[in-house]
Amino acid sequence: MNAPATDAGLTAGVKDHQNLIDGQWRAASDGRFVDVVSPSDGVVFARIARGTPQDIDAAVQAARAAFEAGPWARMTAVERGRLLTKLGERITANAEELAQLEARDTGKPMKQARADIVATARYFEFYGSAADKFHGDVIPFLDGYTVTVLREPKGVTGHIIPWNYPAQMFGRTAAAALAMGNCVVMKPAEEACMTPLRIAALAQEVGFPNGVLNLVTGIGEEAGAALSGHPGIDFLSFTGSPEVGTLVQIAAARNHIGCTLELGGKSPQIIFDDADFDAVIPVVVAAIVQNGGQTCSAGSRLLIQRSVYDTLIERISERFRQLRVGSHEMDLDCGPLISANQKKRVESFVQRAKNDGIAVLAEGTIADGTPAGGFYAAPTLFGPVPRNNTLACDEVFGPVLSAIPFEDEADAVKLANSTDYGLVAGIWTQNGARQMRVAKAMRCGQVFVNGYGAGGGIELPFGGVKKSGHGREKGFEALREFSHAKTVVYKHG
Ligand code: NAD
Repeated sequence: MNAPATDAGLTAGVKDHQNLIDGQWRAASDGRFVDVVSPSDGVVFARIARGTPQDIDAAVQAARAAFEAGPWARMTAVERGRLLTKLGERITANAEELAQLEARDTGKPMKQARADIVATARYFEFYGSAADKFHGDVIPFLDGYTVTVLREPKGVTGHIIPWNYPAQMFGRTAAAALAMGNCVVMKPAEEACMTPLRIAALAQEVGFPNGVLNLVTGIGEEAGAALSGHPGIDFLSFTGSPEVGTLVQIAAARNHIGCTLELGGKSPQIIFDDADFDAVIPVVVAAIVQNGGQTCSAGSRLLIQRSVYDTLIERISERFRQLRVGSHEMDLDCGPLISANQKKRVESFVQRAKNDGIAVLAEGTIADGTPAGGFYAAPTLFGPVPRNNTLACDEVFGPVLSAIPFEDEADAVKLANSTDYGLVAGIWTQNGARQMRVAKAMRCGQVFVNGYGAGGGIELPFGGVKKSGHGREKGFEALREFSHAKTVVYKHG
């Protein structure tokens, strides 16, 4: 938990935000707030409601009422889809305002924030048109029987999302749950939740019935824990750190409900000697500096075949040296990190690697004119990193890339699968048979061959194995997660 959990942000001009519960904007039950800091300059620019367990309870009750008795319960899939599509259109109509909010709140460069809002609208567009296309089954059974399998919503779904892509995470998890007919209680991250608040307001404007989409802001250990442990929740969708994911899974187990956990990663980019280096270089650099490396699917391990290691690493270093870091408004390659704590965390990884004698191959620069008070860190390329060093194994969640040489295909596969994580992998080779073999050998949820999509598109199932979590979001897979199968057996003779 990185946000300052104080009530000290009473600075003039700071905007206060409330929770959305049952279609009404309400202050926290005890009237308290959390300051929201802009990572670009460290200045408090807003306050969010510090949601309490009572607020969570009110939100869950509102969602339950909407699910069981409100107009939502009687709406057809096509009508739900139309509402979602309308929200996607409203997001697009307000895209520039949302992008400015997202950039200020997270520090990400404007071009990244704009791309994130396009993707957010796309989630609502995709699930808007998917709502009436996810069907049940008819199963051949005994003579004289007909068996149908209905896909039914889980009910009231709890959603806990992180700060790195607040708008996209909101769209990714809420749009799929709503398309299936669930009612949502959302707890965004305390560090960045301006766009979730704004999108929830747009949802009210386009006509989502009261109680269908509730949003309670606040501290993870307070509002987040209250949501994950609430007995009125039917399913939990969590995206965040493995540590908190464990707590959420324990809470889900106590209530005998399911959950999806989208956790961290230490994703490898595997570059064989026959790869097209001109194609590799810009992509592998972008995959670690996108969002300042604060991306679960960041390509943070660069595995290079030893025979081409020196040549390729020199070219990647050249590119790294050109990287520039600045505020969201300066719109350079990298913005600041989300918070002072995150900066400290990244710096401690860098310092420890230096103390361990690992060479810094290249560094980007923090540009002149970058505001004082922001949380900036220069992108850094280390190599060769020993395979069991913490930098090769643990998630930094910052713009730090570890280069590691490998010998041959078998060694590459072993190395790629050697961490506790398994989220995404990139494979770079012109050899078709090797592409197929290595893709199949990867222990992770998504593989890119001769490209890297950091999480992939809205249509593509996404999620992890091992410490990266379980369950899938995106695409039609998410509709499966947010529904259950009900088998109905008709004996008719
Ligand atoms: P975090 O786990 O600290 O926080 C995530 C969310 O959990 C926030 O909303 C927070 O308020 C809430 N939370 C914190 N403590 C809680 C508790 N005790 N009970 C319930 N909720 C609680 O993670 P973070 O630092 O915000 O995000 C970074 C992590 O998220 C990284 O590990 C990253 O890889 C991961 N992540 C994964 C994906 C993915 O799709 N796999 C996407 C983005 C981020």
